[in-house]
Amino acid sequence: MRAVAGVDLGGTAINYTLLNDEETFLIEGLCEHPALAKQGPEICLQQIADGLKIAAERAGVALEDVVAVGLDTPGPASAAGQLSARGSTNFVHPKWAGFDICQGLAHKLGKPVSYLNDANAAALWGHYAIFGSRCRETSISIVIGTGNGGGIILEGNVVKGKNGFGGELGHVLIPYQSIAGTSGIKPECNCGRTGDLESLCSLTAIEKNILPYFLPRYPGHELAKLDLHQAAKLVRGLADKGDPLCKEVFRVQAHALGLFFDEMVNTFDPDAFIVGGGALETSPEFQRWFMEQIRAAMPSQREEQAGIPIYVMPNGDSAGARGAAIEALKLARQSGLG
Ligand SMILES: [Zn+2]
Repeated sequence: MRAVAGVDLGGTAINYTLLNDEETFLIEGLCEHPALAKQGPEICLQQIADGLKIAAERAGVALEDVVAVGLDTPGPASAAGQLSARGSTNFVHPKWAGFDICQGLAHKLGKPVSYLNDANAAALWGHYAIFGSRCRETSISIVIGTGNGGGIILEGNVVKGKNGFGGELGHVLIPYQSIAGTSGIKPECNCGRTGDLESLCSLTAIEKNILPYFLPRYPGHELAKLDLHQAAKLVRGLADKGDPLCKEVFRVQAHALGLFFDEMVNTFDPDAFIVGGGALETSPEFQRWFMEQIRAAMPSQREEQAGIPIYVMPNGDSAGARGAAIEALKLARQSGLG
C-alpha cells in the first residue's frame, strides 16, 4: 500500500500522520517523537527520520512505500521551506539561520518533501475536511491560539505568497473602533501594529489588551486577584460557564473576527470560513454562541453572500500534520508517484 506522511515539527515535539492513496488517515490522534530542535539541524533531521520509521510501523506501512513527505514548521520561512536568516523562536540554534529545511529533509530521507508553515498546514487540513483533496473551492481559516494564525486556500491551493507570508491573516488591520462596548481600547500587537486581528483575537490579546480593558469595569471580579498571564488562561473556561466579563472578552474576539471575515468576503468571495484553535476547545453550546457572535458582527452582505458558512475546524491537535500530509499527496500526484 502506498502512502504519504505528514510531519509537524514544533518547538519540542514532532507529530506524524500517514495518509493512504484512498485518502484515509492511518493514525488517529497524536503520534509524537521529541524534536530536539534546540540541538540544530543535523540532530533534528535525524530525529524526524527516526520518528517517521516508528510512525510508519504504527500505521502498518513499509517505509519504502511512503512515496512523499509533507513537512510543516512554525515560521518565518520562505514558501519553499528556507528558514529565516534572522532565526526564530523555535529554531534558536545558529545553524538553523537560513537553513533550507525542506531540501535538508528530502536529502536525509531520499524522498520528495513538500513544505508549508504550520498555520497554512492547519488551514489546508480544515479545508480538506470540508471539501476533500481534489476540490476547487476557496476557504479562509483562522486558528486562535497564543497568537492568531491563518491560511487562505484559493481554488484548492494554499496561498503561500512570494516570500512565504501569504495568509498571515493575524496581522491584517481591522476597523476595531466599530466593535460595540470597547470605546477607548488601544489594542497593540507584538508585530507593532495597532488594531490587527491578533491584537484582539488571541490568548495574547486577552492578556495584553482585552482583560486590562474590562477588569476595571467589573470591580471585585475573581480574575483581578491574579496576574494577567494567569488570568488570561482562565477566561475561556469561565466564559464557557457563563461568566459575564469573560463572555464579553469572547464577544470582542468574535466581533473582531466578524469584521475580518467581512474584509475577506469582499476580497475572495469564499465558499467557507473555518475557525479553530484552543479558543474553541469549549462546549458545543459555547461554540455555537461564538459563531453567532461572529456573524452578528459582520456588516450585512449581498443576498448571495449572506449565507457563507462558518465551520469549526476538526482535530485541532493533528491539524498541522494532516495538512502537511495533504500537501504531500498533491506533490505525489503531480509527480506521478501517487
Ligand atoms: Zn500583528
